[in-house]
Amino acid sequence: MSATISKNTSARQESREGMLKITEIFYSLQGEARDAGKPTVFIRLTGCPLRCVYCDSEYAFYGGEWMHIEEILEQVAAHGSDYVCVTGGEPLAQKRCHDLLVRLCDQGYQVSLETSGAIDISLADRRVSRVLDIKTPDSGEVDRNLWENLDVLSAHDQVKFVICSRDDYDWALAEIRQRGLEQKRELLFSPAWGQLDPAELAEWVLQDQLRVRVQLQLHKLLWGDVPGK
Ligand code: SF4
Repeated sequence: MSATISKNTSARQESREGMLKITEIFYSLQGEARDAGKPTVFIRLTGCPLRCVYCDSEYAFYGGEWMHIEEILEQVAAHGSDYVCVTGGEPLAQKRCHDLLVRLCDQGYQVSLETSGAIDISLADRRVSRVLDIKTPDSGEVDRNLWENLDVLSAHDQVKFVICSRDDYDWALAEIRQRGLEQKRELLFSPAWGQLDPAELAEWVLQDQLRVRVQLQLHKLLWGDVPGK
């Protein structure tokens, strides 16, 4: 019996060679970070080991469809965009995400990766622009931050804090100053949607003369909090 199960499992794994579990592939405007406003193809990988309180992509935690990398590339190409964003969920929770990133870069796309900051990013293709989250206390996942990730970032990567409250802001400020991040990295501050007034966050940043980019989620301003946008 166990031999049968093991044989079946092995066959299933074999048949998933080169495949990833995908929640959706869609074409929209990049809503965040350096490329905000640019038409972009989004590949949303299924699954995330975190549970941030403000998560807007819970529908990507489960389900999804196994797709071969070749099929993913075909769907991406159909949109005719130069920009591709690999997101989730937590895309790096699937190890084959690295293969996908390499293939996308090889095909000449400008690729960004949105990652939770809880998984080692050092294996990600260096051509990819990594947008690394730092989880704040009010996210409920502050203990998941893998601080070593900051050591492997390069100039075309960015570090994002989603700020939920004044306490979150003060915590982020202390971490940034203590780690000297203002000088070393491009930093993004994003107000948690529906939790923190963006104008209030902007005032705090100006008062503290903080070298960060305050960013709003453009796609939500345009279309609301709608999946696939
Ligand atoms: S890491 Fe991202 S996808 Fe995962 S729970 Fe947090 S916000 Fe949601």
